[in-house]
Amino acid sequence: GDLADRIDRLATVVEDFPRPGVRFRDLAGVYAQPATLGAAAHALATAYRDAFSHIVAVEARGFMVGTAVALATGKPLVLVRKAGKLPGPLRSVKYDLEYGEDVLEMQESAVPPDGRALIVDDVLATGGTLAAVAKLVTESGAAVAGFGVLLELAGLGGVRRLHPHRVVALQTDR
Ligand code: IMP
Repeated sequence: GDLADRIDRLATVVEDFPRPGVRFRDLAGVYAQPATLGAAAHALATAYRDAFSHIVAVEARGFMVGTAVALATGKPLVLVRKAGKLPGPLRSVKYDLEYGEDVLEMQESAVPPDGRALIVDDVLATGGTLAAVAKLVTESGAAVAGFGVLLELAGLGGVRRLHPHRVVALQTDR
């Protein structure tokens, strides 16, 4: 569709960033165009209608997407951050990176047990990051309504890893 084309046009590929051999998708062009970011937020909100009560966004570029969806829907925004950034009480989850591991944290009562979280980020690659965020949500006793991203990198198994949850990607890069 039109929005997918716009995201595709605005996303640039940077070879060998942040490391040799990596093809980095830079979405700065999307953030530089608020109308497109707003349209993306509307598209995600529409895809999930009223199936979610909270938006959970993951550091750092997920915050732009989460903020836009919150402004589009009026639903509360919850931030997931790297270890040491949020005041407690917290839930934390360890997750594997390409090299080593990292920790993500969320405030304990941010998503209530009867909540349904729409989890958002900019890019879905292997799905490791979003799977870790989902764990924080389910450990709160809350439900995962699904995931929303601007761009999915196909072929890395991300959607499969997040199964059986729904994934809405506004553009897919093959
Ligand atoms: P995953 O955990 O492998 O799915 O990686 C997704 C996380 O890494 C997200 O938080 C993205 O922001 C980031 N990421 C991975 N690849 C890219 C990329 O090509 N461009 C921008 N961010 C990326």
